Amino acid sequence: MSSQTRKIKVRDLEIGGGAPVSVQSMCATHTQDIDATVRQIRSLAAAGADLVRVAVDGEKDAEALAAIRKQTQARLVVDLQENYPLAEKIAPYVDKIRYNPGHLHHLEKHKSIKEKVARLAGVAARQGIALRIGVNCGSIAPDFLARYPDDSLKALVESAVWHCELLDGLGFTNYAVSLKDSDPRKVILCNKEFAKRRPDVPIHLGVTEAGLLPDGAVKTRIALEQLIPLGIGDTLRVSLTLPSAEKFQEVYWGRRILKDIEERRFISAPDFGKGLNLISCPSCSRVENEDFVKLAMQVKEMTAYAKDRKLTVAVMGCRVNGPGETDDADLGLWCGPSTVTLKRKAEKIGSFRYDEVLPALKRELDVLVLSR
Ligand code: SF4
Repeated sequence: MSSQTRKIKVRDLEIGGGAPVSVQSMCATHTQDIDATVRQIRSLAAAGADLVRVAVDGEKDAEALAAIRKQTQARLVVDLQENYPLAEKIAPYVDKIRYNPGHLHHLEKHKSIKEKVARLAGVAARQGIALRIGVNCGSIAPDFLARYPDDSLKALVESAVWHCELLDGLGFTNYAVSLKDSDPRKVILCNKEFAKRRPDVPIHLGVTEAGLLPDGAVKTRIALEQLIPLGIGDTLRVSLTLPSAEKFQEVYWGRRILKDIEERRFISAPDFGKGLNLISCPSCSRVENEDFVKLAMQVKEMTAYAKDRKLTVAVMGCRVNGPGETDDADLGLWCGPSTVTLKRKAEKIGSFRYDEVLPALKRELDVLVLSR
């Protein structure tokens, strides 16, 4: 917890300004499956989640959210990726909105980013809810990437700082910021830098696409252990690839890591970064084929033979973030409704059925293993 940051309010929950570090999680159900989503929100809240995030990608999700709100008192955050025009519609049913600066350019191209953010800030102010500026390594805003082509971490930090200044200039201060990457070392670097630049702004910590247990919890611990003792971090999420029924484990690990840090039980992870790094997203309502989690587990098993090779393999659950967030991996997979796209860095190798993709991945991995 940081006492330097200002305190923001998410309904009755205080974030920053010395408040205890809160723990968040996110539903992996389809938002339009109202019963399943309400069940998962309740399960996450019962496990101790202070905030539960839900994805909204269209009008039907927004309508489902109104029905979900009637059935739960949990504090809800909506994740609007490029769908910020839905803000007015969802605001009455949520306590916080997350927007991703890297996705604002997709819609209404004739409008400036400033206009779009002003709209979000106006909605949040009228409704009395909070905002999160959520910048992410796999979706950095193109103008910042162009400005810092050789330094993506600088682009990430500068984008976050620019959005803070924009919101401040609009007179809106009830916001937090997250700067996420799938590499905990980069999470440490960019959050330290951001905290230097904006020590007043509450920070949401997390390692994105940390992957399957146990590695996903280890990667998150590596970052949190370096940041929280310095007073950096006011709220957090442990993003794990889990079967839907076990999503509560994100909350368990969030609380467990916080307790261990408080009691000064730190881990030593000398092997981290030395061998094969499997990153996979925690899944959310955007997953179009439920075989995604099974596939991530199969990839882990299949790639074990190359575990001492310094390679990154990424498995992403959808076509919204999958294409961008696999660009940096040596081999990447992103899942569509009936096929999985296989990539070598940013280059597409092909699309494969779910039952064909593992042998195709193995062929590519064999080549990389032999060449290194
Ligand atoms: S990659 Fe897609 S499915 Fe996975 S968490 Fe991100 S948005 Fe959700």
